[in-house]
Amino acid sequence: MAGKPAGQGVPRLFGTNGIRGVANEYLTTEFALSVGKAFGTAIKAGRFAVGTDTRLSRHMLMSSLVAGIMSCGKSVTGLGTLPTPALQYYCRMNKIPGVIITASHNPPQFNGIKGIDKDGTELPREKEESIERLVHSGDYDVAGWDEVGTYTPYDGAIEDYVSAVASQVNAAAIKKRRLKVLVDPGEGAAYQSTEMLLERLGCDVTSINNKPTGLFKPRNPEPKPENLKELISLMKSGRYDLGIAHDGDADRASFVDENGEWIDGDRLLALVFKSVLKPGDTAVTPVSSSDASDDVCKKIGAKLVRTKVGSPTVTRTMIDTGAVIGGEENGGIIYPRHQYCRDGAMTAALVVQMLAESKGKFSDLVDEVPNYVIVRSSIETKRPWERVWPRVYRAFEKTMRVDRTPGLRLADGLKLYDIDGNWVLIRASGTEPIIRIFAEARTKEDAEKLSKTFVNYVKYLNEH
Ligand code: MG
Repeated sequence: MAGKPAGQGVPRLFGTNGIRGVANEYLTTEFALSVGKAFGTAIKAGRFAVGTDTRLSRHMLMSSLVAGIMSCGKSVTGLGTLPTPALQYYCRMNKIPGVIITASHNPPQFNGIKGIDKDGTELPREKEESIERLVHSGDYDVAGWDEVGTYTPYDGAIEDYVSAVASQVNAAAIKKRRLKVLVDPGEGAAYQSTEMLLERLGCDVTSINNKPTGLFKPRNPEPKPENLKELISLMKSGRYDLGIAHDGDADRASFVDENGEWIDGDRLLALVFKSVLKPGDTAVTPVSSSDASDDVCKKIGAKLVRTKVGSPTVTRTMIDTGAVIGGEENGGIIYPRHQYCRDGAMTAALVVQMLAESKGKFSDLVDEVPNYVIVRSSIETKRPWERVWPRVYRAFEKTMRVDRTPGLRLADGLKLYDIDGNWVLIRASGTEPIIRIFAEARTKEDAEKLSKTFVNYVKYLNEH
């Protein structure tokens, strides 16, 4: 999955979400050991926090990674199996860096390694590059026998995290409502934490798929409607007020209403913005998410700042602008009063709070935000992106308005609006020879029409 060449002949190991690959194929114990030594050499800290999601290969890869870190004289606190945001919370509170072994929403044969900085945010690219250079050169700072690191387990990280999330919401209102919530962690890292959180808040919780087998047999860990058939069908029974699902490492949350309707991530984002924002506040989201968020912010009198795609950029912009909420359309919502990272449990708590305070049904709340339609397509490209976007730009600049989000280079993704306010975003994939085209309109028909125009034009460019 990784291994794409970077500059100066050093192979790039970290993708947008860390190192990813099939365990014992790309991601071997030898490789994890090297990455551990590189972390131990490159990152200036005496101690690291290390945790895993539920995948079968977690203990095997963690043992190697931890051995590598300790061989460089750095100690490790083992947090066990926990959500990525729970490890991020531990890192921030203890001001130490961390590593999480996870492949998020990928199928069970995959695993991954992701670095976390001392402030709980994702490791910046320049630190990843120094790790890549070390893995390539093998020039590790191995310690003498009397200076190797130690290993200390700590089993309170989930409890600390759950308490912190619970403290951010109106527990009294939630308790009073006694919501019936169905939780589907999909055998992922939230297998105990979300249930624990909601019970503490006074919800009546039922869980499915809450064993940490790491095999993801009941469902694929990506919380999309096609993978959430069991949750959706149980919600249709009418016995629950809200359904919540997570991805494999629980930095994202996905929701189903009391009638069994899955809530689109763009609508969810707008809904959470609506419940959190006050006049004068700032929210942040990438150019790829729906204009439903713009409409909600405009109505409240809040400012919406758009960024290029990717959660590290969203996080950075939130820090710079002092935003009170931010996130992407995939259910990755960032609430800085708690912490500066995507957080599935925090998102669940905000939604439960909103529902409890409204006294109505979840579907009624969802109906209050615009339901625009985004059609997402990807096309294999024969041309490099640098050759594609200027031609698209020249072909459409006269008939459409070019979005000039400050700081966003056209080369990051070209966004064009038509006269009715519908838009198209065209951008290159960071990992594959693919061009992604997103088209949003007020109706499905219009979105499909708009999408088709651009899909056909990129196909044309492949041949001309
Ligand atoms: Mg994830």
